[in-house]
Amino acid sequence: MSKAYKCPVCLNEVDAAATVCSNAACRAELMFCSHCRDISTYVLAEERKGRTARNTYRCDRCQRLGVKCYTWLSGGYCNGLARAGGSFDRPLCSGCGRDRRSGTASRPIPAREETQR
Ligand SMILES: [Zn+2]
Ligand SMILES: [Zn+2]
Ligand SMILES: [Zn+2]
Repeated sequence: MSKAYKCPVCLNEVDAAATVCSNAACRAELMFCSHCRDISTYVLAEERKGRTARNTYRCDRCQRLGVKCYTWLSGGYCNGLARAGGSFDRPLCSGCGRDRRSGTASRPIPAREETQR
């Protein structure tokens, strides 16, 4: 199943792995949200200090929190925002954390999710 992803700012069709909108007049910063599984813009929600801490971002579509996937941070081909805000921050986004053969998450997702922050 293929889906066309659109920049939420200018509605230009963008690649699912784009980190910046390809529209030269827009150039919005984009990421792939693991919550709503769509391309979206994001805002910095919380700046964290420390070597292992990652800044928290809020998806403009679903308003939920995420952290940049380690693949993205290490310069890999990824624009995924991993889920955050629960009991722990997931290290990888839904795309990188997925077991490619079975399509299931490598670790079970906790049933309890904090939506209020
Ligand atoms: Zn755009
Ligand atoms: Zn979202
Ligand atoms: Zn990733």
